[in-house]
Amino acid sequence: MLVGLAGNNGTTVATSILANRQKIQWEERTGTKTPNFLGSVTQATTIKVGETATGEDVHVPFSSVLPMVDPRDIVVSGWDINGANLYDAAKRAQVMEPDLLRQLRPELETMHPLPGVYFPSFIAANQADRADNVLEGSVQMQLDRVRADIRQFKADNELDKVVVVWTATTEKCVEIVEGVNDTAANLQASLEAGTTGVSPSTVYGVAAVLEDTPFMNGSPQNAIVPGLAELARERGVLLGGDDFKSGQTKFKSCMAEFLVSSGFRLGSIASYNHLGNNDGLNLSSQEQFRSKEISKSGVIDDIIAGNEILYPPGHKAAGPKSGSTKAVDHCVVIKYIPYVGDSKRALDEYSSEIFMGGRNTISVTNVCEDSLLAAPIIIDLCVLSELFSRVEVQVPGEGDVPAHWEPCCSVATPLSFFFKAPLNKQGGRDGVVNALFTQRRGLENLVRAMSGLPLTNDIPAIY
Ligand code: NAD
Repeated sequence: MLVGLAGNNGTTVATSILANRQKIQWEERTGTKTPNFLGSVTQATTIKVGETATGEDVHVPFSSVLPMVDPRDIVVSGWDINGANLYDAAKRAQVMEPDLLRQLRPELETMHPLPGVYFPSFIAANQADRADNVLEGSVQMQLDRVRADIRQFKADNELDKVVVVWTATTEKCVEIVEGVNDTAANLQASLEAGTTGVSPSTVYGVAAVLEDTPFMNGSPQNAIVPGLAELARERGVLLGGDDFKSGQTKFKSCMAEFLVSSGFRLGSIASYNHLGNNDGLNLSSQEQFRSKEISKSGVIDDIIAGNEILYPPGHKAAGPKSGSTKAVDHCVVIKYIPYVGDSKRALDEYSSEIFMGGRNTISVTNVCEDSLLAAPIIIDLCVLSELFSRVEVQVPGEGDVPAHWEPCCSVATPLSFFFKAPLNKQGGRDGVVNALFTQRRGLENLVRAMSGLPLTNDIPAIY
């Protein structure tokens, strides 16, 4: 169930799953296209499982190593504060090709988003005219309605598991306030009292957790407040977040890993984005942009923290008197340019100090449909959160407490690969891994361990 079903990501996920399930082909200027899952780790990547007697590597699909849901079997529904049916919403998004939408039209027209939880001050004022499909009543009543929606959807479709993914408009971040959202009990009391400091994204998160349903937060705001993390821990429900790691940030965490692991002292990253979709319009408002700026900024922290030769404690990018306040001068700019639609432009400049005082500057331009990068991530999050919510670990006995089984994780740190600002086990942001290939290896090794395969070993053949 997607929160933000009628948005660009929501409609892209819904239409791509239908197209894949029904094997629908469509025509473009360059020829006939067939549906696929490119950009999905579970559906389009492989794992090396060993070697043949003659030393050739053997790879198998990632999805075949453990029993995982086939995305073609996923039923999509969800909420949106905009009531457009999915055909009209997908046309508005301008992501999917018209010939594909034409073929899916009869089915998409029957799909209507459920009314959403809407507290106007959390998203930009420029979103107000979208809000024609909203829940009424107290916060508690809206929470109960979202819970009932989850139960109803599960029963109607005879589903084994529901996963809720927030892919709705970026909200402003909330303050963590003692007595409001700091503990599970306080958060639930605040919801009952209708306290204003709780965001819609947290309401959906609480509803999901109370229905024992994993909740993944694909936007940068801090939906997973400490009270929600505690509630999920108490109930053994999986949470994941924050903010899909789709384009520029994914590349940035590779580039930083490449430079620092080569022994270059990365000194500055200047990142410019412009995009013309509704996400860009919302982010043109300062409070919502600030959420995105924060989630995009921490992405190299662990990479530089791991090398005290290049970055000794207290190191500032351009020296102590320069005005640099950080080890790397890192700036993120996002502008709304309607003309480019969902085709986001990301322009990055990476400047590093190299051998004997030299400088190395790399400039990168990336142009891509934003939602075509995000949708396979959403599909992976559904597949993997369903998998991880079935995994338990045995906790050794201690004192009077016998050995017992517990859910493998409450905040899904193995899913960090998919998030720009991954959360740690407690739901905070300290000590997390951002480096992309380290994240990928971590996920792969966990999957290998669960299936009884040895961990990856890249020691070169030396004899
Ligand atoms: P979008 O504006 O097209 O869609 C968001 C949808 O959410 C809209 O239809 C809106 O009506 C709906 N909505 C807003 N508040 C809601 C609420 N409280 N309840 C239910 N529905 C609500 O945006 P998008 O391009 O689909 O992106 C969705 C989110 O994903 C954004 O927050 C964006 O920052 C985040 N994100 C996107 C990418 C990517 O596309 N590559 C990457 C990272 C994060």
